[in-house]
Amino acid sequence: MPDDCLFCRIVAREIPATVVRETETTLAFRDIAPKAPVHVLVIPKDHYATASDVAEKDPALAATLLTEAREVARGEGIADGWRLVANNGAPVGQTVFHAHLHVLGGGRIEFS
Ligand code: 5GP
Ligand code: ZN
Repeated sequence: MPDDCLFCRIVAREIPATVVRETETTLAFRDIAPKAPVHVLVIPKDHYATASDVAEKDPALAATLLTEAREVARGEGIADGWRLVANNGAPVGQTVFHAHLHVLGGGRIEFS
């Protein structure tokens, strides 16, 4: 893992996070600066820079991330309506270059 990667360090439990779900290959935890009442990040435990990279290099893992996002929405009680966002690249505002899906819902979403 790149030792300067924030989310790799969360996976390694070197940096604390509020984990809501975990599987062998994925981790879901609350965003530190939530843009909606429910704002959870779903990440692969292995390091990929973007969700797009996961789709290219490990399509089965990409599918698992989507399934986990759905499970998070169900667990958070927002299965009736939720938004999935993946920023792929700096031009659209990606700031953490470890692949992640944003699961958003539960009220007003202030995500640009
Ligand atoms: P991006 O802009 O790359 O799509 O999203 C990165 C997200 O990571 C942002 O929503 C930001 O609030 C969140 N974030 C940044 N640092 C941390 C952290 O240390 N812990 C947690 N839980 N979330 C973080
Ligand atoms: Zn990483």
